[in-house]
Amino acid sequence: MGIFPCVDGPHRFRGPATSLYPALVNGQEAVRWKLRMCSDHAASVLGRLEPYLVSMDDAAVVYQDDAKLCATCSRPVVDDSRQLYVTVYQPKHEREDYWAQIHLECGNPGWLPYVAA
Ligand SMILES: [Zn+2]
Ligand SMILES: [Zn+2]
Repeated sequence: MGIFPCVDGPHRFRGPATSLYPALVNGQEAVRWKLRMCSDHAASVLGRLEPYLVSMDDAAVVYQDDAKLCATCSRPVVDDSRQLYVTVYQPKHEREDYWAQIHLECGNPGWLPYVAA
């Protein structure tokens, strides 16, 4: 049993937690927070993040086509936007990095819990 409560609520969970480190960047302003989740709740967030996975191909950073879609409303981003960076540490996984854009007029994605630092 994990000793730390999942961000989804203080329910018990088996196995090690997944740690997520989101950062929302708007120009010079950056808001960072930390999420600790059980693997079940982390899976639903990771499913939403999947289109935004940043991978390395030889020397180049590879973004998926969906990275052009707003993480909140899923519509294309063409103008200025806020940047969402999420670093994920899953048990027994390599570090994963995600990058997404959010329209300036869109709120934070509802599927990504926010915890004030
Ligand atoms: Zn949970
Ligand atoms: Zn949007």
